[in-house]
Amino acid sequence: MSRDEILGQNAEKRGISRRDFVKYCGLITATLGLPVTMAEKVADAMTAARPSVIWLAFSECTGCAESFIRTTYPSIGDLILDVISLDYSETIMAAAGHQAEEVLMDTAEKNKGKFFCIIDGALPTKEGYGMIAGRPMIDIAKDITSKAAATICVGACASFGGLPAAKPNPSGAKSIQDALGIKTINIPGCPPNTINMVATIVHAIVLGSLPALDNLSRPLFAYGQTIHDRCQRRASYEGGYFAKEFGDAGHLNGYCLYELGCKGPETYNNCPTVKFNQGISWPIEAGHPCIGCSEPEFWDKMTPFYVAK
Ligand code: SF4
Repeated sequence: MSRDEILGQNAEKRGISRRDFVKYCGLITATLGLPVTMAEKVADAMTAARPSVIWLAFSECTGCAESFIRTTYPSIGDLILDVISLDYSETIMAAAGHQAEEVLMDTAEKNKGKFFCIIDGALPTKEGYGMIAGRPMIDIAKDITSKAAATICVGACASFGGLPAAKPNPSGAKSIQDALGIKTINIPGCPPNTINMVATIVHAIVLGSLPALDNLSRPLFAYGQTIHDRCQRRASYEGGYFAKEFGDAGHLNGYCLYELGCKGPETYNNCPTVKFNQGISWPIEAGHPCIGCSEPEFWDKMTPFYVAK
């Protein structure tokens, strides 16, 4: 049975038709800024490639992994786990202890130079902090990233340090780039949008190259514009209509949230266009100011959240 047929059967069992899958691929295609005609090619590539992925979790809250496995259409998270070969992930794998560590080392050796290393979580750099299976997290990170085709940091913590690196930062937590001195692809957010993680891998599979990055190593297709640039409350901002308090008439009527502490003008991300929860909504549409979670020094630089700066 061909890979496409297996995928088709698995998708069907989960109530996802080939048509829905192609629709999902259309969303990825649009996110990447590719022509709509590429959607079929993206779908074919996703059903055929199945690259090996090692997902490492360091100093984090597991929100990024939760976001990934609960992505978009019903059960599409499971489907993606069929499309990529997620060979190691402490969060969802059945193996534990020595068996899990063997899987990690075997996968990295067998797929040397070809697998994607996805990391969520910052790296503690002070001695005595952050151990997995008796090894410092930083040693594991060095070992595995040195064998990967590319390292993709998902979430604010892996990309820029995030909450673990907020003051007083007792563990000396740093971003993967800063802790290891390596080049990574950063997909920040708390959590980041899964579509941006998948689109980055699809870009590599379909186009054979990694996406263009900004000066903070974020894919330009997702982080090329600010939240403010594409916000649907922008007309209110330009017109001088601001919500003053949560629940007031301006807030309920969709006025700008700047005076409630919105950090949209200084935050680069595509939340207004890709949205969350099956594309239903996103924080500002739901009435919550942007908290700037995809920027460096989120948390320290962006707090207090509900105060205009
Ligand atoms: S709500 Fe935020 S992002 Fe939207 S227009 Fe106002 S300041 Fe800009």
